Amino acid sequence: MTKRKDRGYKKSNNKPKSQPKGKSKNFKANPNNRPQQSKKGVTAEFTCRGLSSEGKGLIEWEGKQLEVANLLPGEKAEVQIIKKGRYFNAELKRLIQTSDDRVQPPFKDHESGGCQIQHMKYEAQARFKQKVVDNLMKPFGKAKPIITMDHPFDYRNKNVMTFGLNKKRQIISGLYAPNSHRIIPMDGSIIHDQKADKIIQTVTQLAKSFKLQPYDEDTGQGFLRHVMVKVGKQSGEIMVVLVAASPMFKGKNNFIKALRKDHPEITTILLNINNRNDSMVLGEQEKVLFGKGTIIDTLCGLEFEISAKSFYQINPVQTEKLYSRAIELADLSGEETVVDAYCGIGTIGLVASQKAGNVIGIELNKGAVRDAIRNSKRNGIKNARFYQADAGEFMVQMAKHNDHVDVVFMDPPRSGSDEAFLSSLAKLKPKRIVYVSCNPETQVRDLKYLSKNGYKVEEIQPVDMFPQTSHIEAVTLLTRK
Ligand code: SAH
Repeated sequence: MTKRKDRGYKKSNNKPKSQPKGKSKNFKANPNNRPQQSKKGVTAEFTCRGLSSEGKGLIEWEGKQLEVANLLPGEKAEVQIIKKGRYFNAELKRLIQTSDDRVQPPFKDHESGGCQIQHMKYEAQARFKQKVVDNLMKPFGKAKPIITMDHPFDYRNKNVMTFGLNKKRQIISGLYAPNSHRIIPMDGSIIHDQKADKIIQTVTQLAKSFKLQPYDEDTGQGFLRHVMVKVGKQSGEIMVVLVAASPMFKGKNNFIKALRKDHPEITTILLNINNRNDSMVLGEQEKVLFGKGTIIDTLCGLEFEISAKSFYQINPVQTEKLYSRAIELADLSGEETVVDAYCGIGTIGLVASQKAGNVIGIELNKGAVRDAIRNSKRNGIKNARFYQADAGEFMVQMAKHNDHVDVVFMDPPRSGSDEAFLSSLAKLKPKRIVYVSCNPETQVRDLKYLSKNGYKVEEIQPVDMFPQTSHIEAVTLLTRK
């Protein structure tokens, strides 16, 4: 198990173990170091020639470009290539020569696929994301420099770990290995809230002493599945959700007592029952074991009540920067009719409502709409209405009724928007569209559509919402031609 020492980067200790004699200028296997063929595939030496859009190192092998996790441009490494069906799987075996951009991360998150680029210096991460956005957005103009995070660690307000057994059959907590249900034991993550990680460790220790069994997906036996800790970064409130396969919690009262004794900072504890067979962390049913069942957080000066199940941006520091930029781009005067499409719990719309005439929020998820309405009341906001609907269908109806809209914020899921939505936008003809996206590839697709249908991309602003991971967020402004 990796040990937590400090949150900053340590200097890389991936010292070259042997210096290659000849310089290998091409990117093919080094002839001095012939490829080794074995049952397990081919192992050979490569030089990494760039990064994929997911932050993986690129190598060339027999005319094919392969991706290698945890490898940086310019680095020399021994890589094992295994054929898997029609694909080739390339895995880093040993680093021979390391890059100056490499740092030694304190946790094994990259193995879990969670922090795919935590081995990269933060400056290099920013450069990488900028380049991906620049390349994708080329048809629309030059992107602004990415808005980075001052302390790109410990930022998550929602922290989840999963329980399992180690070889000695003791309960452990950690994260799943990629594409598998094997748990990599971890006592923290570089992007988790530090208090949350300590609470998760205590829960794991208590589970051991209370002899709670982890749930086994294969047999359906056992009790504890996950622990989720949500933190109100500004309020200091903390929610602990124990996710279990059944409501029969043996020793519940003593468990809660012990947990609260070690962590008096916890403000509420819930038991969530999840007996499903998919990869969702939370089930439908929940029971408040202590406190009021929700926490409060403050974002852009507004208060939001967050429940265990509600969707909420996971990096509040960068979310404030993203929303401020989005609202600046909307250039509101106080009179406009504003649509907040794909609004989640209404955060963008509620922040914008202070500078707009009225706001119409549209969101598919019922619970999120309920949260949005509750949050607008909580903040005394009277000029925002929220509707539970498919954003595309709702916009089609608005276009049919010739409704008047001045500004549209849209923040669709990774798959992007759809033609119903975009074609209705073109009919409604808002002056400005502010498009927030967590997937620049689908964003580019939608921007192309809007460019052909009356709009011009005026500004492209990447924001680093997810440091240490390869995820990229960008906000763009479109105006009517
Ligand atoms: N703007 C919010 C949420 C963005 S996440 C925020 O900043 O927090 C995208 C949201 O789109 C999710 O809440 C998801 O439930 C919602 N969504 C997904 N498909 C949708 C659809 N077809 N119509 C409306 N909302 C949708």
